[in-house]
Amino acid sequence: CTIGVLRETAPGERRVAATPDTVRRLVALGARVQVQSGAGGGAHFPDAAYADAGASVIDDAEAIAQNAAVILCVQAPDASLLQRLREGAVLVGHLALGGDDARGEAIASRGIVAFPLERLPRTTRAQAMDVLSSQAGMAGYKAVLIAAQLAPRFFPMLTTAAGTIRPSKVLVIGAGVAGLQAIATARRLGAQVEGFDVRPETREQIESLGGRFLDLGVSAAGEGGYARALTDDERAEQQRRLGEHLRGIDAIVTTAAVPGRPAPRIITAAMVAGMRPGSVVVDLAAETGGNCELTRPGETVEIDGVIVAGPLNLASQGAVHASEMFARNVLNFVSLLVADGRIAFDWNDELLAKTVWPPRDAASP
Ligand code: NAD
Repeated sequence: CTIGVLRETAPGERRVAATPDTVRRLVALGARVQVQSGAGGGAHFPDAAYADAGASVIDDAEAIAQNAAVILCVQAPDASLLQRLREGAVLVGHLALGGDDARGEAIASRGIVAFPLERLPRTTRAQAMDVLSSQAGMAGYKAVLIAAQLAPRFFPMLTTAAGTIRPSKVLVIGAGVAGLQAIATARRLGAQVEGFDVRPETREQIESLGGRFLDLGVSAAGEGGYARALTDDERAEQQRRLGEHLRGIDAIVTTAAVPGRPAPRIITAAMVAGMRPGSVVVDLAAETGGNCELTRPGETVEIDGVIVAGPLNLASQGAVHASEMFARNVLNFVSLLVADGRIAFDWNDELLAKTVWPPRDAASP
């Protein structure tokens, strides 16, 4: 079969779904690989490296779309390109199709077998394919660097002839994959770090990274290792305690999310108003509406001396390593589909059956 890698079309997207290294491994699975010229450019993988790895580098996206039995992408191609894919083509990437009618229709009308990797069940076996985790790691890391960059303070403690500087206090809200990487990164920069999450098991994880668990008296473990949404009473209690605590915090990184729902609103305008001037909020949940009421997605604003940043697609800012990890995740998933150069779907494998989109009818064979 032929596997195609197209240049990403989403604005600002620098990542690529296959690297020269993974192309070499795809070729070893017996596949022919076609890469659109410049597909790796945003992540500093030149065309020549793909060619050396055994890919054909082709200028024309259309030709690849029509040829390839499998298309690898970071974000879903736009609907017009999807319409031009081969009938029955396989599409693998972080596709975020839910709610996008034009793409959904294109996929249905072309009989495309889509595997949005964000739908993978988060089992141990799926970890090697888990793009949410690999990309969240980069996002959490970059979020702390942005906080440090925007802050008018040092993060580490300094003892100098001009006096002693106390370390910044950083609070990370949401200690999933991104939050734990944020905690580790802020610690490496020398800040005093606290972490908070509604899943009680995060206490140990935060402490193992040298952070302090901020106990706000709310615990809301949900299904599948994720958080559930809070009740109104729980949210009110969390907010009262948090508001008091934030007065002493220099930088906040928020990463809280509940699958399939808008980001929980955790930091209100009143809480921001209570923070010291020169404090910073970096809201990693900006893409899904923000954990902070004042976040403007894609912008950095200053409100009464408090800087609130809502960066988007932070993983793309670390495109080299983010692409290397994404491409390995994709390769590991494609290895379930392609053997000896042929595609076969083993629908008894839950990683395929639960990931495929549109969802398979439970009654179908
Ligand atoms: P996520 O992006 O859905 O959420 C980020 C964090 O926000 C979560 O830790 C969640 O508990 C927290 N959160 C939600 N509401 C909150 C609130 N009101 N206040 C504070 N925090 C709130 O989560 P994620 O990072 O993708 O992963 C969630 C968990 O799943 C992680 O702990 C991770 O270890 C686990 N996971 C397991 C596997 C596996 O192999 N089995 C793979 C990936 C992730």
